[in-house]
Amino acid sequence: MSLHGSYDPDNIFAKILRGEAPAIVVHDDAEALAFLDIFPQSRGHTLVIPKGVNARNFLELPAERVGSYMTRVQRVAQAVTRALSPDGVIVTQFNGAPAGQTVFHLHFHIIPRWEGVALKGHGQAPKADMDDLQATAAAIRAAF
Ligand code: 5GP
Repeated sequence: MSLHGSYDPDNIFAKILRGEAPAIVVHDDAEALAFLDIFPQSRGHTLVIPKGVNARNFLELPAERVGSYMTRVQRVAQAVTRALSPDGVIVTQFNGAPAGQTVFHLHFHIIPRWEGVALKGHGQAPKADMDDLQATAAAIRAAF
């Protein structure tokens, strides 16, 4: 899917927002939902999605929502790093399939990095063990 097009209300993140698909949630408020990526590029790989907007990508997020959404992205990144003590953290997002986007509801990735630990490729990581994800999520939730 290119940069241009219409929002698909049946994308997986829209289903998670409607409670129609499961997610391992680390933070939930009126502005945004944050949950663990089930194909994590590293331990603690977290996604932050805005609520109440049909934005496929960052370019489509109404300007008046940018500040409140990015505040959540920062808060989640802070909690992830407090909980897991990585040596670094990637905060990133992709716009359009040619840029690497695969799910077309706006999301930022928070990807902790540890020195000497290789990063799994974007879209190439295996599905995580759900018990491991639940334990990681509990640690992140406790760090807010
Ligand atoms: P994108 O490629 O659009 O930047 O990122 C989409 C992310 O969503 C990928 O990192 C992928 O692993 C993740 N993902 C895909 N399907 C699901 C799902 O059903 N649940 C969760 N939690 N993450 C998903």
